Amino acid sequence: MTQPIVIAHRGASGYLPEHTLEAKALAYAMGADYLEQDCVLSKDDVPVVLHDVQIDTVTDVAKVFGDRARDDGRYYAIDFTVDELKSLRVTERVDHKSGKPVFPGRFPAGKSRFEVPTLAEEIEMIQGLNRSTGKNIGIYPEIKAPAWHLEQGKDLSRILLGVLSENGYRTKDDACFVQCFDVKETRRLREELGCQLQLVQLIGDKKWSRDGADFDPDFINREMKKIAEYADGIGPALPHVISGADASGNPVVTPIITAAHEHGLVVHPYTLRADGMPDWTNDFEALLRMCYVDAKVDGLFTDFPDRAVQVRNQVA
Ligand code: CA
Repeated sequence: MTQPIVIAHRGASGYLPEHTLEAKALAYAMGADYLEQDCVLSKDDVPVVLHDVQIDTVTDVAKVFGDRARDDGRYYAIDFTVDELKSLRVTERVDHKSGKPVFPGRFPAGKSRFEVPTLAEEIEMIQGLNRSTGKNIGIYPEIKAPAWHLEQGKDLSRILLGVLSENGYRTKDDACFVQCFDVKETRRLREELGCQLQLVQLIGDKKWSRDGADFDPDFINREMKKIAEYADGIGPALPHVISGADASGNPVVTPIITAAHEHGLVVHPYTLRADGMPDWTNDFEALLRMCYVDAKVDGLFTDFPDRAVQVRNQVA
């Protein structure tokens, strides 16, 4: 049995602003197995590592390029060249409406100096670290809003696969998972674009929102069968795998993991956050143990890779 993998969600984002090279280097040092890259395109067609197509919640774009918002008042990465994006200061994420930090206990908003990395720059750093440490830590890029990119005239998937291939990520033996929420696009990666990498079908947190007891095994089974036609794994929301606790405090594990495993799919739920816990527990280490021991996940996305690695090494 291989140990479940720890995927640093946007880097060690519980400690440093998400998707900065600093947050990735810290996650690397904390022992994460894979580092996540959410990818969107710049105006000059370069994949950059940003969680949203809008950049106003993690950069000072409104201060630097005040007149370049779209009609909805938002600033979009795709309207800026890489050079322009790199001139911005990246900050801890703030809420779009209130301007307040989303996670108030984390790295202070607006402090220190961080910039937007391109995917290629980030890969270069990770591969450099792999060389200097002798490890083989993987990448876990996500294709963000592919349909929206196509509407803007850009094929994000095709461009991103090109960058991965140029950097040596081409087959299932390479330390890389490609993830996407868009079902059609994930299938397209495999069947039309010829992607041979490990593919993970992300599943939105609104899907299967019924109580754990109501998860219909037949339905779940059919869904997993379809996904297994083109993907290697699923990335469900945490409540899709552990829906709560029973009266004695034991986790209620849904049928999704078993069904996924029956179809040969690995399961990597998102997102384990010490400062964003489900309403039925406030013990982060206990929750991690439940994921590993009770739910038997194959990996998990977390903002706190140090704590996930520590618990994983105790139980697995
Ligand atoms: Ca992501």
